[in-house]
Amino acid sequence: MDLLFPEDLISNLGVPQLIDIRDQLPVNSNYTWGQLAGVRPLEDLTTIALHHDAISKTSTAGNSDLQLATNIAKSHIRLTKNEEKGDAGFPYHVWIRNGKAYWTNNVLDRTYGVASNNGYTVHVCVSGDYVNGDSLTEDDRRVLTAVCVDISKQLPSYKGIKAHCELNATSCPGYDYNRIKADVASYDQMVQERYRNRVNAAYNTVLRFQDLYNKAKDPAFQFKDVALCKLEDIAAYMVQKDYMNP
Ligand SMILES: [Zn+2]
Repeated sequence: MDLLFPEDLISNLGVPQLIDIRDQLPVNSNYTWGQLAGVRPLEDLTTIALHHDAISKTSTAGNSDLQLATNIAKSHIRLTKNEEKGDAGFPYHVWIRNGKAYWTNNVLDRTYGVASNNGYTVHVCVSGDYVNGDSLTEDDRRVLTAVCVDISKQLPSYKGIKAHCELNATSCPGYDYNRIKADVASYDQMVQERYRNRVNAAYNTVLRFQDLYNKAKDPAFQFKDVALCKLEDIAAYMVQKDYMNP
């Protein structure tokens, strides 16, 4: 499953393209996620699980995005809570920081994001500690929405979005996940509404053309010449752009 954003999603939400760093993150020398925990059939994936990484923004201000992602992967490889030899690597499928979405694991890989709920979930994480004082930036919220729209449209059995805390007893993710759910659910409607607004604006242009034409052809109108010149200006632009050919 290819997570790169389609062009219309990028322009509709004003977000940068997702960045694939799957082959830049450290992995456990003993196994991959697929070898450790298995690869899930696409049809089993029904739910996007929302997380934060619970690392405060001030504590990582000096880290580049890739440095911090690398540190997170290393800490999970060292972690022996789940497996004697550590987790396989970075625990989420997508990770967000500084308004950018990073593709961190194959979507089908069964990573450890929500205990007992990893067979059907795609894990999306925003960097920061939203339980202890950090707040979700507008840029991060927009790109999180884009990631969720992108994934939801590619899952044939998609059911919805769940915050980690709705699946397990945890405070993760700490930000307003209901807003994300609502924005993702209304995305198609938002796109249609935006298109209708553009069509309405285009109709105002048509009305103005007609108005200029009526004035230009009226022998009694004082500024008929001005109206005609404006239409000729527009015509020259349309010729230049090759808009005169249907
Ligand atoms: Zn979580």
